[in-house]
Amino acid sequence: MKTIGLLGGMSWESSVGYYRVINEAVKDSLGGLHSAKIVMYSVDFDPIEKLQHNSDWEGTAKILTEAAKRVQSAGADFLLICTNTMHKVAPQIEKAIDIPLLHIADATAEVIVKKGMKTVGLLGTAFTMEQDFYKARLTENYGLTVLVPNEEDRKIVHNVIYKELCLGNSLPASKVEYLRIIKSLANQGAEAVILGCTEIGMLVDQTDTEVTLLDTTYIHAQKAVEWALCD
Ligand code: GLU
Repeated sequence: MKTIGLLGGMSWESSVGYYRVINEAVKDSLGGLHSAKIVMYSVDFDPIEKLQHNSDWEGTAKILTEAAKRVQSAGADFLLICTNTMHKVAPQIEKAIDIPLLHIADATAEVIVKKGMKTVGLLGTAFTMEQDFYKARLTENYGLTVLVPNEEDRKIVHNVIYKELCLGNSLPASKVEYLRIIKSLANQGAEAVILGCTEIGMLVDQTDTEVTLLDTTYIHAQKAVEWALCD
């Protein structure tokens, strides 16, 4: 079994999800007392969040490349950045390490393509929904059409992530708003909606809606186990 490297803490609430899904998937595959071999570096999210909102992406890249190098030196065979948003600086991180990076958008796109879907909705932080580092990868590399909520709804989605979910608060009123926005994306033609932020699964899951949800935490973590268990 290969050793999975996790760059976590963004937020730690979602890193808990990665740890659980990865270990459960290894147990399901190998049985008994088997568990995953993991090296994790969990950052302090507060300075990262401040740099993001000041558009100082190079500042975030500096912190994350240092952390990624430590994960590599600790023996990881490959790396996951446990957040969609911080894939904004994936190119800088990838350049700084010798081990492969398992990109969250690739893992997600592969699931979408396998399902034969062409048009998907995307929920995430404003950075993920509005900038090109994530959407363009889906459209240019996989030929997908990506729909995002309108400006007002993007603000709601973004604020719930930073002001509630990253602090561990999952509020019923926010769930109602998210389900309304998911439905509206489906009405506009989305065949599924990507939960493109690793905390959203704390608020909504497949039992809440008939619209197919693609939880990036689950998909990314499952793919990591596939990589860890292949020869
Ligand atoms: N975990 C979130 C994501 O997947 C947001 C927190 C962050 O800004 O990294 O995008």
